[in-house]
Amino acid sequence: MSNVETVRGPVDTASLGNVLMHEHVFVIGTEMQQNYPDYPSAWDEDARVADAVTKLRECKARGIDTIVDPTVIGLGRYIPRIQAVNEQADINIIAATGIYTYNEIPFQFHYNGPGLLFDVAEPMVELFVKDIRDGIAGTAVKAAFLKCAIEVQGLTPGVERVMRAVGQAHVETGKPITVHTNPHTESGLVAQRVLAAEGVDLSKVVIGHSGDSTDLDYLCRVADAGSYLGMDRFGLDLLLPFEQRVDTVVEMARRGYAEKMVLAHDAACFIDWFVADAKEQAVPNWNFNHISDDVIPALRERGVTEEQLTTMLVDNPRRYFS
Ligand SMILES: [Zn+2]
Repeated sequence: MSNVETVRGPVDTASLGNVLMHEHVFVIGTEMQQNYPDYPSAWDEDARVADAVTKLRECKARGIDTIVDPTVIGLGRYIPRIQAVNEQADINIIAATGIYTYNEIPFQFHYNGPGLLFDVAEPMVELFVKDIRDGIAGTAVKAAFLKCAIEVQGLTPGVERVMRAVGQAHVETGKPITVHTNPHTESGLVAQRVLAAEGVDLSKVVIGHSGDSTDLDYLCRVADAGSYLGMDRFGLDLLLPFEQRVDTVVEMARRGYAEKMVLAHDAACFIDWFVADAKEQAVPNWNFNHISDDVIPALRERGVTEEQLTTMLVDNPRRYFS
């Protein structure tokens, strides 16, 4: 038996059930919210918590037992609010540690670190390990995985520093990693190179947002290096339409890669990056239910077997967290 930490405490990985491997409960810029509470969408604490409870209950009612939430520093992680939601919604939520940036690191790290003005050990590693071992910010909630990002900007000094710190925290704790990548710049391969150089076990890495691409050659190369492909933006059809997202999973499964794919939407109950109504109009299917309602039936129809669905939704997440 092996346990994974969730917001409600440790859970046997064998009881995680159907898992959506990349969803956010809330994505909020706290400083913006405190100073411009109505831009670009108004924030109402009680209403947003109630809304998240409803959305997670609907998700659970469709047979999803666990969501994996890679909301870290840069995306507004605030665990007490997640605990308040989880008290009312019966679903496993797995929390993360790490830093989300496409370029610069937070100023709190600029001058503190190896070779910097204040020449100390890498504080990021220490903070990530603390979240994993002791819990996050005085809550009893422990992070169960690590998160970093690399986007079109590539391996900037800030992105590389976070990625190496994530790799080092993985080596120290054995916890798995999710990387936000941009497949169109093949940044999954860059992340694999940097993480492998830090001694990371690439079979414990999800190369997130791989599903934004239809480049089968690229996807096979990432998977052949051992990592999971995050086919994790279903519903974000502005970036790649439904049909192409589905067909890519179908073809990769046909080629024997079901064991290397995980599914999700990268949706959020609330995200303050967009005007809520405009988002709803632009991407109406970008929510926690699209995979259950539309994607799974489409995959079945196109020849993906029940066994392959179980592999992607149950077995791969269990193996990743074990
Ligand atoms: Zn995300």
